[in-house]
Amino acid sequence: MVIIGKAAAKSAGLPRYFTGVACENGHIAERRTKGGACVLCRRAAAREYMRRHRANPDFLVADQRRTREWRASAAGQKWIGRYIKARWETNRDNEEFRETQRQSVRKWQAAIREKQASMDAMWRADYNDSPSYKERNRVRVVIRIARKRASPGCYTVADVAVIYERQAGLCACGCGGSIADRRYHIDHILPLCRGGTNWPDNIQLLAPACNLSKASRTMEEWIAARAVPNGEAAGI
Ligand SMILES: [Zn+2]
Ligand SMILES: [Zn+2]
Repeated sequence: MVIIGKAAAKSAGLPRYFTGVACENGHIAERRTKGGACVLCRRAAAREYMRRHRANPDFLVADQRRTREWRASAAGQKWIGRYIKARWETNRDNEEFRETQRQSVRKWQAAIREKQASMDAMWRADYNDSPSYKERNRVRVVIRIARKRASPGCYTVADVAVIYERQAGLCACGCGGSIADRRYHIDHILPLCRGGTNWPDNIQLLAPACNLSKASRTMEEWIAARAVPNGEAAGI
């Protein structure tokens, strides 16, 4: 590891510096340019934090979401780019590092091939009544449409499961209709074509008839269109 002081790292725009001096816990490791924390201490603290919260599914969903949001954000992209560049600059002459990089590229390519093969196998398999298959497929289709529209955000099967639990078997529109046995349509509260996002907080589960009726309207527009002069809901 190249010795580079905090001030030098800062002026070079590097996210980390390295002095070779042990931290208070005895780690001889890089420090963060911002704040000066030892990266190994921070990693240990993050692991401990995850260990304490791992059993809580809500926490995991929220944590994954925070990570995704951060990665997609301008700040996250900038940080990742800078980190990769700095790591490369520091280690470009280190054959061991380069071999590790090559191996991880190969591993990544193999993982993609494997994932592709297993997805192909899934697609080739006959349609069956496996709810998990249907769930995955449904999420995949909606995500594909969303990508096409380049809407920000994404949600997973796990996010939909959380929303399903929260709605306790009822259509989100308040009609009292049932979505039990996972008979629902995934709806964007603010439609993608109206600038809505693909984040879980813009997702609700509607009874199929409600979703088809709402189409690409906002909730306000749809509710207004359903209302009849005497204030009762029109047939949907
Ligand atoms: Zn430390
Ligand atoms: Zn409804």
